[in-house]
Amino acid sequence: MKKMQADVAVVAAGLSGLAASIAAAEQGLSVIALEKSKVTGGAASMGVGPLAIGTKHQANVGYNLTPDDAFLKHMHWSHWMVDARLVYDYYRKSASTIEWLENMGVEFVYRNTTLYTPTRMRSYAEPERCCHAVRPADGGRVGPRVAARMIKSMTDYAEELGVEILLETPGRKLIKEDGRIVGVLGTCPDGEELEVRANAVIIATGGFGDNPEMIKEYTGLTWGENLFSFRIPGNVGDGMKMAWEVGAARSDIRMDLMYQIPDNMNHFNLEGAFRQPILWVNKLGERFMPEDCIANTCTTGNAINRQPGHTCFAIMDTATLNHYKRNGVDIFGIQGSDVFDHFDQEAEAAITTGYQYFIKADTIEELCEKTGIDLAGLEETLEIYNDDCDNGGFDSIFNKDRQFMRPVRKGPFYSLQSFPGAYGSFGGIKINYKTEAVDQDGYPIKGLYAVGTDACDIYGDTYPFILGGNTMAFCLNSGRMAAEYAAEYISTL
Ligand SMILES: Cc1cc2nc3c(=O)[nH]c(=O)nc-3n(C[C@H](O)[C@H](O)[C@H](O)COP(=O)(O)OP(=O)(O)OC[C@H]3O[C@@H](n4cnc5c(N)ncnc54)[C@H](O)[C@@H]3O)c2cc1C
Repeated sequence: MKKMQADVAVVAAGLSGLAASIAAAEQGLSVIALEKSKVTGGAASMGVGPLAIGTKHQANVGYNLTPDDAFLKHMHWSHWMVDARLVYDYYRKSASTIEWLENMGVEFVYRNTTLYTPTRMRSYAEPERCCHAVRPADGGRVGPRVAARMIKSMTDYAEELGVEILLETPGRKLIKEDGRIVGVLGTCPDGEELEVRANAVIIATGGFGDNPEMIKEYTGLTWGENLFSFRIPGNVGDGMKMAWEVGAARSDIRMDLMYQIPDNMNHFNLEGAFRQPILWVNKLGERFMPEDCIANTCTTGNAINRQPGHTCFAIMDTATLNHYKRNGVDIFGIQGSDVFDHFDQEAEAAITTGYQYFIKADTIEELCEKTGIDLAGLEETLEIYNDDCDNGGFDSIFNKDRQFMRPVRKGPFYSLQSFPGAYGSFGGIKINYKTEAVDQDGYPIKGLYAVGTDACDIYGDTYPFILGGNTMAFCLNSGRMAAEYAAEYISTL
């Protein structure tokens, strides 16, 4: 067995693990980070950027939300079912974390644009402008994966500080002696057993988004059937199992639910084209929400999740498609505003490759046959909906804004089917405000800390788009907090 020693062992070098490793090294502690994958960064490499409250970027545009305001909004959103002290400390720390990252060379693009979107179509009626997008390396458009640049800067800086990042080296088991955690066992790339002795261990393994069995156990959803969530390879719940094994209590456990189409990254613009206030129906052919309220992908995910078969269909006819091609989108999401420029090309590719969730049909009968939507139900819906469109656009079912009442009348018709999706999982290891893992009675397990999504149960039942960028921000800030509290603990030994 290979034996190593450090002040702090960090299990994983994803976003929260890197934050913890860097912050611990900055405290003058020696750090070994065990990382299962060939690369650092985990899910964070796919994202846009973190939230922060009270940064200089916000002050520069006169945006003055305070951490106290954010705290209260967050607690009202989560109905105070979460750890108030942890949430409070996290928001208080968030602005300094942006500066901390900037000192490592990370650059941010801060935009104050939400107010230009009509109220009903915002992801939340009054969303705060707190997401700080990572500036793309090529100076191009902010979009998916720009945060990979932050991971590169963090990894380089961690190595500069002397953090020893062991790639392809999964952590397996915690070492507990005399009631304290004193290290972790892992496996080296060549299969040799590894023992890392450390005065504190910080767990940061990113939840269980890549583990269909745990997803089924904790949410009841079946991956690939009625859930199509992102799966970051290797995020299979290792950290939480290791912590539970040594007596850590379980926190609330959920998925970071939103909605998605299967294989969404390969049909990116197509997905954006159908995330518009067009006609949305469930399998019965019934509308289930006003379609101008779909911009909040998380609450819409909840609505889709409660439909028969956990699914829904967005439908438009050729006239509406042409309208969008001419005028552009109504709802501007992560896919951007030019999705209809790519529609024909992506639709063609979807049809050629037999992508079953995108349907083009000449008649409503054919559409229902191919999608499985109940024909009688859809015909009834269309009668009411088209009638409403003809009569001044008053939506007699949901009072959708009349400017979006466009009839579905003349083929070809187009439909895209969505399901609940998720960025990953939330929660698993119960922690206190110091990010210490706690036992069933709430007492800390000495020397054990948990951060990032492994420990993130601060949202209640739904991710708070009211304060976007929240998951990355919790990962970064909980990582920093764990390192600081671990340093304090180690100094008492
Ligand atoms: C497509 C996408 C876009 C997103 N965009 C945003 C965004 O813009 N803003 C935002 O706030 N959030 C966003 N998120 C969410 C955010 O990226 C994640 O919440 C965050 O990265 C989670 O950080 P983490 O440290 O908990 O886990 P990760 O960053 O996923 O890291 C977990 C690490 O643990 C490693 N690991 C697993 N098991 C072991 C083991 N046994 N031993 C050692 N290592 C192990 C993994 O290999 C991985 O490197 C996005 C997520 C996705 C999927």
